[in-house]
Amino acid sequence: MKQPDPIKLKNGYAHIPRKRFGQNFLHNKKIIDQIIAAIAPCENDHLLEIGPGYGALTEFLIRSKSKFDCVEIDQDLVKFLNGRYSSTELNIIEQDILKFDVKTLNPQPNSLRVVGNLPYNISTPVLFHLLKRHELIFDMTFMLQLEVVQRITAKAGEKNYGRLSLMLQYHCEVEHLFNVPSSAFTPAPKVGSAILQLKPYKNKPIEANDPKVLEIVIRTAFNQRRKTLRNSLKTLLRESKEASSVDLSLRPEALSLKDYVEISNSLTGN
Ligand code: SAM
Repeated sequence: MKQPDPIKLKNGYAHIPRKRFGQNFLHNKKIIDQIIAAIAPCENDHLLEIGPGYGALTEFLIRSKSKFDCVEIDQDLVKFLNGRYSSTELNIIEQDILKFDVKTLNPQPNSLRVVGNLPYNISTPVLFHLLKRHELIFDMTFMLQLEVVQRITAKAGEKNYGRLSLMLQYHCEVEHLFNVPSSAFTPAPKVGSAILQLKPYKNKPIEANDPKVLEIVIRTAFNQRRKTLRNSLKTLLRESKEASSVDLSLRPEALSLKDYVEISNSLTGN
């Protein structure tokens, strides 16, 4: 297979994009401006960028003079960034974001503004990993595969509605901001991209007694998409402590988040 051409960076560096790290570098200035405008960073913010790469967003985020941390897995890119920025401008951590606990950055509660053009091969695990620390996060603005953004923002009855929509909408307000063409990247990804903003709720509009039970109910229902809920949830519903008013003759995609929380709460009692 043909290796991608090296990308010439500033300071005389050249970098061959690594597929295993999901490296598609953004070069379209208009899109970069749109993303920075959507983030609108301020001096009092605490920014965390995941996968800065060679700094397409970093270069502009840094101008806000906010507290700024980055996590990058590729040691060559870390070396490049360290040569380009001083440690007072940017704290670069060479790590796998999936093994990194954002709590070690000592953020104030509800303060972290997490941003990044995420490596698409690990974008969903990254979202669930960050949600474990949702109380520390103010918002997240991510470039993701368009299809993943459509799944996350889908509503009941829509084609892409499923576990990802429900679990993320349980924790966060989600907004599909705009689409990004493949031509905005080098190398160009084979899939469409989009910008998604997520704001973890401080007070959830709908609260499950036990979010772990909610997760089990949703997973069990969508594992057997073609069955009615009465059939797919049969075993779980035997443990029901209370009746729920949800119509169980429906299929999983017809139910709202409120319905799933009601079923989950009927299993745990109020
Ligand atoms: N932000 C740059 C841009 O917009 O051009 C690069 C985006 S590229 C899609 C994804 C970046 O995430 C790469 O720099 C890659 O090395 C980094 N990355 C991949 N896996 C990672 C991981 N597990 N932890 C941290 N960074 C990772």
